[in-house]
Amino acid sequence: MNQLDILRRDLAALEHGHLLRHRRNNALPCAPHARIDGRDMLAFCSNDYLGLAASPVLADALADGARRWGSGSGASHLVSGHYAVQEALEGRLAQFVGCERALYLSAGYMANSGIIPALVGRGDAVFADRLNHASLVDGMLLSRAEMNRYPHLDVDALARMLSGSGAKRKLIATDSVFSMDGDVAPLADLLALAEDHDAWLMVDDAHGFGVLGPQGRGAVAEAGLDSWRLLRVGTLGKAAGVSGAFVGGEADVIEWLMQKMRTYVFTTGTPPALAQALLASIDLIEHGDARRRHLDGLIARFSSQLELERWRLMPSRTPIQPVLVGDNEAVLKLAAALWNEGLWVPAIRPPTVPSGSARLRVSLTAAHTEDDVDLLAATLNRLERGT
Ligand SMILES: *Cc1c(COP(=O)(O)O)cnc(C)c1O
Repeated sequence: MNQLDILRRDLAALEHGHLLRHRRNNALPCAPHARIDGRDMLAFCSNDYLGLAASPVLADALADGARRWGSGSGASHLVSGHYAVQEALEGRLAQFVGCERALYLSAGYMANSGIIPALVGRGDAVFADRLNHASLVDGMLLSRAEMNRYPHLDVDALARMLSGSGAKRKLIATDSVFSMDGDVAPLADLLALAEDHDAWLMVDDAHGFGVLGPQGRGAVAEAGLDSWRLLRVGTLGKAAGVSGAFVGGEADVIEWLMQKMRTYVFTTGTPPALAQALLASIDLIEHGDARRRHLDGLIARFSSQLELERWRLMPSRTPIQPVLVGDNEAVLKLAAALWNEGLWVPAIRPPTVPSGSARLRVSLTAAHTEDDVDLLAATLNRLERGT
């Protein structure tokens, strides 16, 4: 077998194991109402928590930005691809989340995979929640530091690992809101451990920024924490409705990251027009209490209307509301039954989640209505009873 034959065999194995993934082609912009192959669907799958991704205000800001700045940046930020509008965005982000300085990056994946190797290396140690996002895992691997993965949310296990470590430099990395579970890391306890063990604490707030904390300032602001040890990563393609990411922290720490992060230094700067849209997005987030109130109402409504016996709504106060089914085939059948009724909810299976914990990942947004949520809950109740 040559290389291509091997690859084709492996692809066939994926298909055989029902592990081949397919993309749906949506004919409409990001919103609860989608159109797939000519069919109208009600979607509960996006991370557009505030319903901003198709906001006309942001589309106008993006178009204005493109007219003013063109489409490209021309070079990496440190060479000549850095523009006033991006500098303004970084200042606004730092002020908004409450830290000294922020660095704006092209994606959360680039942030997480770049920050860890910039801070730790061979002979150092990273401590990571076992359910952290893949981009944090890849950052650990790239760093070549020793990897210590602690059981999900288990602060005592983390404390033991930290005490037993002789590493010179230590970094604790965690999601704030876990993307397949919707639960929230104990950030205050983690920061206390970081202080005790002279470690960095890196918080990936991909699902908290815009949603949690006063005016949507994020999970760190909600917990009321501040420390030079804290690195706050926020992503800008979820609640913020655009694209990109940032890392916020103490000014010299951010200067170091700007000098050393390979995912920042060796990539072309993001199109400046995006920064103009993002400045408008931060304003919408800051003044978005009505959107967040509506979203919180939907979250409470969904859990109060579900009457499940075999399946179980996992405990979550965030827009990520997973329904635990357990069995892989059962969750696929359930997602297919929902799809047949015009409801689009993704089934999540191992290895994305631990085996035996296959689930539906319901995600709610401020663009959903109470009727949308009622329909989903009623359909789930009915499907569970098998009627
Ligand atoms: C989506 C996500 C990322 C990656 O962010 P992108 O901007 O989409 O690259 C990182 N961490 C978590 C927890 C995420 O959910």
